[in-house]
Amino acid sequence: MRLSHFEKLRPVCPVCRLSGQDNGLALTTVEAEAAGDVRMGILACQGCGSEFPIVDGMPIIVPEVRRFVQENLFYLLARNDLTPAVESLLGDAAGPGSGLESIRQHVSSYAWDHWGDQDPSPFAPVPGGGAPGAVARNLGEALDRLGDLPEGPVLDIGCAAGRTVTEAAERLGRDVVGIDLSVPLARIGRQAVVGGRIDYGLRRVGLVYDRRSYALRHGAGARGDVWLCDALALPFSAGTFALAIGMNVVDCMRDPRAGLVEVSRVLADEGRAVFSIPFDWAGQVTPVEAWLGGHSQRSGHAGSPEAILDLLLSEGPLAAGSLRRIGAVGEVPWHVRLHDRSCMYYSAYLVVARKAVG
Ligand SMILES: [Zn+2]
Repeated sequence: MRLSHFEKLRPVCPVCRLSGQDNGLALTTVEAEAAGDVRMGILACQGCGSEFPIVDGMPIIVPEVRRFVQENLFYLLARNDLTPAVESLLGDAAGPGSGLESIRQHVSSYAWDHWGDQDPSPFAPVPGGGAPGAVARNLGEALDRLGDLPEGPVLDIGCAAGRTVTEAAERLGRDVVGIDLSVPLARIGRQAVVGGRIDYGLRRVGLVYDRRSYALRHGAGARGDVWLCDALALPFSAGTFALAIGMNVVDCMRDPRAGLVEVSRVLADEGRAVFSIPFDWAGQVTPVEAWLGGHSQRSGHAGSPEAILDLLLSEGPLAAGSLRRIGAVGEVPWHVRLHDRSCMYYSAYLVVARKAVG
């Protein structure tokens, strides 16, 4: 956790936030720090006393720390210093469906999309012609449509391997905090954003991963950081951010409408939000009743996600806070590379909203 981000963003306790109180967090313990980056430490609420760990530079600021740690203990304690041959043997032995394998596949797909366009070594052509860097290109298209932003930092929700954090920091020249709930992705995202390197296994086939390790070219400097936070319980006061980014994340939330309301809360007046949404709903992530469309085709909206999102981003009873769509929506190509012979293709819905005043 960069001290500069902590001091400027002044995070508040997500436990107290649930009862509507903004109580600031204090950095009560620093056990490892280098160049203004706290690697290991503890944040504590000035009000209720809740404690939030900082592990490997990632502050974990979620309402239920105990549950988060229990569910993510394997990922928090997983080592990332295994050498290629030993990791390969452990990967074979752990087998498909293991925790190690789920880290490797997840990181392979996202690291390739986010940073594969800077890989100095060639890789096999992707079936269907997909090229890495789609998430950065799509964000660029969204940033072209922002108009005038108020003063303030940027929140990147579901920042994964961190490319959108650095793109926004470079392009807007503002501080950006990326948040995610995936420990392996936040770890690699932080390595990219703060450390300027990527080091991951690119899945070739089955349990075979080729190690990719290279320095990154990005000009984010000290403006980017990556934290572990929940989009549904953002540990920030109302009006903190000028811009919120949500690339391919809204349909990964437990409650997408509540997520949009949270975004509205933390935006400053006339702040902007950009979302890219493939509407790829999954029942184990989002309960069906919380999906935006994709069900109830008998009703007036005929199950259309686009129609429901439009209602959420318009004046009316369904409005998600004060977010209002501006400009036309777009469709952008996004894809997820699984291995040398498999890639999933999406057309994602790209929309820009502003926080209406009053
Ligand atoms: Zn508290």
